Amino acid sequence: MGFNVAIDGPAGAGKSTIAKRLAKELGFIYVDTGAMYRGIALYMIKNKIDTADETAVSEAVKQAQVKIAYEAGEQRVILNGEDVSGEIRTEQVSAAASTTSAYKAVRAHLLELQRTLASENDVIMDGRDIGTTILPDADVKVYLTASVECRAKRRYDELTAKGEVHELEQIEEDIRKRDHQDMTREISPLKKADDATEVDSSDMSIDEVVETIKKLVK
Ligand code: C5P
Repeated sequence: MGFNVAIDGPAGAGKSTIAKRLAKELGFIYVDTGAMYRGIALYMIKNKIDTADETAVSEAVKQAQVKIAYEAGEQRVILNGEDVSGEIRTEQVSAAASTTSAYKAVRAHLLELQRTLASENDVIMDGRDIGTTILPDADVKVYLTASVECRAKRRYDELTAKGEVHELEQIEEDIRKRDHQDMTREISPLKKADDATEVDSSDMSIDEVVETIKKLVK
């Protein structure tokens, strides 16, 4: 069994930035479970499966093989043999992933992959239900959050830096919608595990958040 750190929280709370830094500093591997759900969503989009149709998605997911690889310490998402790490980072895929991740068959499809990675390695795993469902016995559990306004602004800055033009108000609305979907779904809703430490990153720098979590690990 590896040493497992679970970081859950809503979209844009800084989970991946923080988890990547922590993994590097601690010599653990970083497992981004959101990227796996994005891979499944991308499969549905590419194969023109209606993401609102749970029966169709549940059938199609059987053909979507998601694997994780590491290249120079960076996680890559491999979908049926193809590296889709870049393609999964669009707003269309974000929305589709939030819809399809609510389906039981999709969650069951990715559960083993996540647990196996955690049992074989020291991991920092981020997602929505890592501390509550995937790794209930994780050594350290963090619930990383921030205000909606703050998360929207961060996402806006990230997209702008990539040269993408988006309205801040639209991003904020999309985040609110995704939060609502992720928090109110029946299976594995996003919520703080009872034994998780809540960290609100709204007024904290990346360094401060990394140091706060590091103290919990040591
Ligand atoms: O973290 P990220 O924004 O990449 O996740 C995309 C979507 O995948 C989330 O909005 C959520 O619906 C879903 N997800 C999930 N459980 C996880 C990780 C992500 O349901 N462990």
